[in-house]
Amino acid sequence: MKALVAIKRVLDYNVKARPNDQGDAVELANCKMSMNPFCEIAVEEAIRLKTKGAIDEVIVVSIGSAKCEEQIRSALALGADRGIHVQTDVDLSSLSVAKVLKQVAQNEGADIVLLGKQAIDSDNNQTGQMLAALMDCAQFTFASEVNIDGQNVEVTREVDTGSETLKGQVPVVITTDLRLNKPRFAKLPDIMKAKKKPLEKMTLSEFGVDESSTVSVLEVMAPAKRSAGVKVADVDELINKLKNEAKVIA
Ligand code: AMP
Repeated sequence: MKALVAIKRVLDYNVKARPNDQGDAVELANCKMSMNPFCEIAVEEAIRLKTKGAIDEVIVVSIGSAKCEEQIRSALALGADRGIHVQTDVDLSSLSVAKVLKQVAQNEGADIVLLGKQAIDSDNNQTGQMLAALMDCAQFTFASEVNIDGQNVEVTREVDTGSETLKGQVPVVITTDLRLNKPRFAKLPDIMKAKKKPLEKMTLSEFGVDESSTVSVLEVMAPAKRSAGVKVADVDELINKLKNEAKVIA
């Protein structure tokens, strides 16, 4: 059994995002970039499944600029076996990413494809769903628990009313939610060892996937500044303010 984990390089979650000078994208120059946090959870889960003996190999794949190698090496340091880097400088749409991932999953004969539920830069929350549709296989989104027994997969997922448990058979696409696990930190010797793990370089042109997107960003702007808060003396004053100043209750 093979697990393919899709990881995306994004602006580090501790960095305050701000628009660039042209106002058409988030400023990334000189900003710390990291693996998308939900992808870290996906890598961690794949490694745990391998440790339990449920899967034999963990392959990570990232699609993006040359610098994505940093995030692939991080995943290898955490315990993934090998990496695939599909290099492109184009900011691909989710559908194009899903089309590339489908081909990688097919080439590798992946039984389980793990993705983050969303990338914190685009907040699209759609690549996993698109991939499952393209692969015509079962999808388990927002996973908070994953159990694998041979070909059988059981996933508990977060839903509005709490959680639900679904069963299916490989091949499957799983997207990770926050509660699934707490990713480990890489140890220094593992960071050194990761430098020698196999990393296959590919180019987008090898996949014949259209780079153009049906979505274009019109404007990127900072959120409006919030006015300072005030302390109220008691509940009556709070209700008065909510009624007469904020006008949010009648
Ligand atoms: P999104 O649908 O854009 O919110 O992304 C959901 C998940 O799709 C991410 O957490 C990744 O697992 C995967 N993904 C999106 N873009 C890429 C990319 N460029 N390379 C690898 N994986 C990606």
